[in-house]
Amino acid sequence: MRKDQPKKPLTILPLGGLGEIGMNCLYVECEGSGILIDCGVTFPSKPEGVDVYHPSFEPIRDRLDSLEALILTHGHEDHLGAVEYLLELKELPVYAPKYSKEQLLERFEERRRERPEVLLYQHGRSFGVGPFEIEAYRVHHSAPYAHGLVIRGPFGTMIHTGDFKIEERPSTTFDWEIVDRAAEEGVDLLMSDSTNIEVEGRSGSELDVAAELIEAVKGETGRVVIALFGSNVLRLDAVIRAARATNRKLVLLGRSVETHARLGLRCGELEPFDDITVPAEEAMRLPRHRLLAIATGSQGERLAALPRIARGNHHDLDLAPGDTVILSSRIIPGAELAVYELMNEFIRRGVKVVDRKNIPSIHVSGHATRDELRLFLERVRPTAFIPAHGTRMHLERHAALAREIGIEEIAVIENGDLIE
Ligand SMILES: [Zn+2]
Repeated sequence: MRKDQPKKPLTILPLGGLGEIGMNCLYVECEGSGILIDCGVTFPSKPEGVDVYHPSFEPIRDRLDSLEALILTHGHEDHLGAVEYLLELKELPVYAPKYSKEQLLERFEERRRERPEVLLYQHGRSFGVGPFEIEAYRVHHSAPYAHGLVIRGPFGTMIHTGDFKIEERPSTTFDWEIVDRAAEEGVDLLMSDSTNIEVEGRSGSELDVAAELIEAVKGETGRVVIALFGSNVLRLDAVIRAARATNRKLVLLGRSVETHARLGLRCGELEPFDDITVPAEEAMRLPRHRLLAIATGSQGERLAALPRIARGNHHDLDLAPGDTVILSSRIIPGAELAVYELMNEFIRRGVKVVDRKNIPSIHVSGHATRDELRLFLERVRPTAFIPAHGTRMHLERHAALAREIGIEEIAVIENGDLIE
């Protein structure tokens, strides 16, 4: 739009992710046209007999006619897990980057639901939805093809970061030129990930983890099991490389690891590794020093592979003194007790447990630290700022950081709060 034209109002209405961590879903509307950014679930922190929570679409029920599309930033469950519930309410085109598109289609197939219309977007190639011109840029994150969004329209320019971090030693590309171009034009509104606002220093690089994993496996003489989040395909790649570097055979244990190994291969994110893969049922036949297993269940989820190995009731793998479990993961708040129980089961049985306490760079977070969030705020210098993705405390602290930097228009809002 031309600079001298008066800007049109923009409506922001978060349905999830503001006032909580997880369940990201943001409604944005201008001139009677609306888009949703992400549509995720959250997992209950207490066992209440509920599997997942999804956002309530009640606040936009009378705006459904205006809703034109859903835009996904990446494929984590807390960004994509509730798409099926949304599409039950209204059929919509879904714009997704490579990988997330495959994930979504596979998910609908598994649930035997009708294939949604998924349109692929690419970084740096703008696409239009109603009055919105959307340009995605690649960010560093713990999921493949994660993007932030520059959204231009009659309201001006807005940046929605999605989940991101800034690696000093980049393991993937961050499209800074797209962010910088928007910053030069002037960003009216920035909404930015607050998850790790409390963490000082830098988040570290997946490259460091990859190197550390090889070192950690190299020193072991027994069976080694590495637990991780399957959706972190770069990490999967690192473990495959560690298996090659240490001359071990690879065994995949658990559905999400298998799914992402398959999707990673299909999308070209993983190089073929069938030459070193062994079916799970043959794991126990390998010499102990030749086995490297990748397992789900790093959060102590009772039915996942690792906790079953810990309890000694996994039908394909048993561990004994001399064997090692590496937790290449963090503990999600709320899962502490389950993870400690898991670690203690192994320790009682004489199995060595390695986690971030022993080797800090055995895992790095996918979210920007306070220093990285500051860096991003300073680089974008938005006129207005709304902290996103965090509990109220996270949002307030991120707002305080923006204030420190000199940003004057700041709004802290939670799910269901409408702002123009
Ligand atoms: Zn994420």
